[in-house]
Amino acid sequence: MVIGICKEPEGENRVSCLPDVVKQLVQLKQEVWIESGAGERAYASDADYKAVGAHVADQKEVWLHADMLCRMHFPESDELLAQAREKTIWVGMYQPLYHAAEIQKMASRGMTVCSLDAIPRTTRAQSMDVLSSQANIAGYKAVILAAAHYPHYFPMLMTAAGSIQPAKVLVLGAGVAGLQAIATARRLGAVVEAFDTRPAVKEEVMSLGAKFIEVEGAADPSAAGGYAVEQSADYQRRQKEKIAATIAKADIVITTAQIPGKRAPLLVTREMVESMRAGSVIVDLAASTGGNTELTRNGETIVHHGVTIIGNSNLPSTVPADASKLYGRNLLHFLQLLIGKDGRLQFNFEDDIVSAACVVYEGKIRDARILQTVQ
Ligand code: NAD
Repeated sequence: MVIGICKEPEGENRVSCLPDVVKQLVQLKQEVWIESGAGERAYASDADYKAVGAHVADQKEVWLHADMLCRMHFPESDELLAQAREKTIWVGMYQPLYHAAEIQKMASRGMTVCSLDAIPRTTRAQSMDVLSSQANIAGYKAVILAAAHYPHYFPMLMTAAGSIQPAKVLVLGAGVAGLQAIATARRLGAVVEAFDTRPAVKEEVMSLGAKFIEVEGAADPSAAGGYAVEQSADYQRRQKEKIAATIAKADIVITTAQIPGKRAPLLVTREMVESMRAGSVIVDLAASTGGNTELTRNGETIVHHGVTIIGNSNLPSTVPADASKLYGRNLLHFLQLLIGKDGRLQFNFEDDIVSAACVVYEGKIRDARILQTVQ
């Protein structure tokens, strides 16, 4: 099989595979073609890829030869998509439930689409879990970014010139990104509080040295495999009151709350932002799915009443070398499920990972939730 590694669109610094992964794909009897300059923003040169056996060519040539194209993002335009062969197999991170129209366009050309973010969050799938590997980076970078915008220190300092109080950080949503944000803020010396609707995370939050904010009566997440579910109106009201009281005292708020397949829950209202001290910073990692903050603008940094609000769901792109390294390993582990000992490609839909990731197979949409949206 010919695997093509694409150059990602403007604004994305990561690349699907760094040279070490290409080397392993070549060992798996695959022919790898890479678009010239694809790894540049992640600090991998064309020469590095050539050295491990890849063919470097321009975009049109790669797309013409490839059976499979590894591209994290969808092609930006219909014209670009038209340059890929019929039946091309796409492997990326496409958030298919939010992008049913794009998925349908690919299906209409007989293509196959594997979206690594649709892989089940099981123990066996952990090595392919792009959501975790990338969310970890986002949580870390959110705190670094907040610290860079914050006009005060993070740690407590006692100096001859006077004392500095530690920053108060509030993390909303203690999943993979939230837990890493807590750990990073703690390392920088902040006092951290965190909130999540899943009571199961309380112990993890506390073991990182943060305080867990409790709101009684959350909806039982067990039916959704332990993932967050939407909450009752009464719970949302009590949650809002608790968050409002905590936010008024917080200097930094990192929001990461998501509900798979749904709009991100709105947790921080305009009034709450206006209750914060000037100079405070909010980083909203849920910006691309609607945002946890009423005032968030996806992809923008705004200042409201002296509070900086950063809406960015693509922070892993700002740590491109390590984000590409981890994504590439996830991708390799997934491809190892598809590539047989003879080097040939096979889709075994009895494998729950292959079945969930492959949302379109040879033009047929396999995911019932996407089908419902497009019909
Ligand atoms: P996510 O990105 O979907 O959501 C982030 C967090 O937001 C979650 O913890 C969620 O509970 C929380 N949230 C949702 N609605 C909220 C609200 N109204 N208020 C406050 N918080 C809210 O989640 P994720 O980080 O991808 O992972 C969620 C869980 O799955 C984590 O506990 C993680 O450890 C677990 N997980 C397990 C595996 C595995 O077993 N292989 C792999 C990855 C993740």
